[in-house]
Amino acid sequence: MYKGFEATIGLEVHAELKTETKVFCACSAAFGGEPNTQCCPVCMGMPGALPMLNEKAVEYAVRAGLAFVCRIAEVSWFDRKNYFYPDLPKGYQITQAQSPFCVGGEVQLRGLGYEKSVRLRQIHLEEDAGKLIHTAEGTLIDYNRCGVPLIEIVSEPDIRDANEAKAYLNELRRVLLFLGVSDCKMNEGSLRCDVNVSVRRPGEPHGERCEVKNLNSVSYVGKAVEYEIRRQVELILSGGTVAKETRRFNEDTGETETMRRKESAVDYRYFTEPNIPPVRLSAEYVESVKRQMPIMPDEARRNLTERFGVGEETAAQITQLPKIYRFFLRTAEITRYPLKAANLYVGEVLTVCGEEQDSYITAEHLAETADLFGNERITANVAKQLIRLSAETGESPCVIAEREGLFRIRDEATLLPLIKESIEASPKALQDYRKGKETAKKTFLGYVMRATGGRADAAYCELLLDKVLGEE
Ligand code: ADP
Ligand code: MG
Ligand code: ZN
Repeated sequence: MYKGFEATIGLEVHAELKTETKVFCACSAAFGGEPNTQCCPVCMGMPGALPMLNEKAVEYAVRAGLAFVCRIAEVSWFDRKNYFYPDLPKGYQITQAQSPFCVGGEVQLRGLGYEKSVRLRQIHLEEDAGKLIHTAEGTLIDYNRCGVPLIEIVSEPDIRDANEAKAYLNELRRVLLFLGVSDCKMNEGSLRCDVNVSVRRPGEPHGERCEVKNLNSVSYVGKAVEYEIRRQVELILSGGTVAKETRRFNEDTGETETMRRKESAVDYRYFTEPNIPPVRLSAEYVESVKRQMPIMPDEARRNLTERFGVGEETAAQITQLPKIYRFFLRTAEITRYPLKAANLYVGEVLTVCGEEQDSYITAEHLAETADLFGNERITANVAKQLIRLSAETGESPCVIAEREGLFRIRDEATLLPLIKESIEASPKALQDYRKGKETAKKTFLGYVMRATGGRADAAYCELLLDKVLGEE
C-alpha cells in the first residue's frame, strides 16, 4: 500500500451472547428493555451478592471455540479486572485474563478470495458493562446491559490490510450467526471491534501499535485501518515516531484521534475471582457440545458451489446469514434450476432488500420464476420484473406473466415487422453496419427489446436480424 512499508493488524472482537439470562445472575439479558428494569443485587454489584456462572454462556463460548478449532482448556477460572467507571457498579469486571476457555484456533479465509487463515490467540468469557446515556441535563446510566455475557475473540496480528480485516470480521460474524450464539448486530452493540495497527519496513521488528477502540460497523473497521496505516507511515516519513496509544474513530471525519497515551495506561490489578470456583470441562462435555454443532458457513458455501454450481462470490452472499441460506435451500428444493435461482436471489432479492429478504418474495415464487427462466419461457429482464411484481402483490409469477403477457416472444410474425421498423428508424446505425461495424446491430436489437418490453428472445432476434440485413 505504501512503498517500503507493511502493516500488521490484530483484532479484538466482543460478541454479546444470546443467552436468556445474564452471565452471573438470573436477570434477563434481552436487548432494549426499559432502562434499569433488568438488574438485581448481583449485576448491580451490591456487597455480599454472589455470582453464579450461567452454563449456557459457557456452552456458547465452547461452541465458538470448537468452530474456530481452538483448544478447549480442561480447567479455567475467572479474574477480576479492577477499574472504576460508572457503567460498572462493582468496581471491577469479571473476565478471564489468565485462563480463557478457548486457546489458539484460526479463522479461515480460504474460499473467500484469500489464501490464508488468521490465527486466534484466545476466546474468553466476560461480563458486559452498563450503558452511559449522555443528555443535556447530565449523564444517565442504564444497567440492563451490566452482566450480559460477552465473548472476546482475540486474533494474532496476522492481518495485513483493511480488506483482510473486513473479510476476517465478516467471516467471524457469519460463523457466530450460524452457531446461533450471538445476534452480531453491530448497530445495537452486540458485536464490537477494537483494531490494533502498526507499520514497519519489511524485515524490521514490529512497529509500535495503536489501538482504535469500539468500532461498530465493518466499514468503519476498514476505514479506521486505512487511516491508521496512512497516519503512521506519514508520521515516520516526516521523522516522527509512533507512540503506543488508544485512539477513537471519528465517524464524521473518518479519522482516528488520541484517547489516551501509554503513560496514562491503567493498572487493572488482576486477581482471581474468589467467588467462582474453577470450571472443569471434561472431554465428554466438549464432545457433547461438538455433536450438537450446526452447519458452518464454509461447509454451507461448499455445499452451494459443489451441489448447485453456484459461484464463490454468490455463495458468500447466500451464507451471509443462516436464515438467508435456509431460504435458498428451500428454494433449491422446489426449483429445477437452483443455479438460476441462486443468481436471481442474490441479484434481484438480496441486493434490493438485504437481510430483510424473508419478508419480500416467497421461496415458492422465487423457484417458480427460476423455472420459467430456466425453461426459457421468460427473458432475464422479465425474470427481474416478475420478482419485483410478485414481491409487491404476493401473486404467483406464472399468473402475473399470463395476465401481463410477459412470456418470451419467439415468433417471426411478431418480431420480423419490429426488426424492419428498427432498421428504418436508425439510418445512421445501418450506415455504420454497412461500413463493417458489427456493434451497430445492438441499436436494432435494443429497439426491438424496448418495443417488446424486454420480452423478445435475443438470440432469435439476432437470427432474424442477420437474415434481414443479409437481404438488404
Ligand atoms: P494487550 O495485552 O496490550 O492487550 P496483546 O498482546 O494481548 O496486547 O494484543 C492485543 C491485540 O493486538 C491482539 O489482537 C494482537 O494480535 C494485536 N497486536 C499485537 N501486536 C501487534 C502489532 N505489533 N501490531 C498490530 N497488532 C498487534
Ligand atoms: Mg487487549
Ligand atoms: Zn442481575
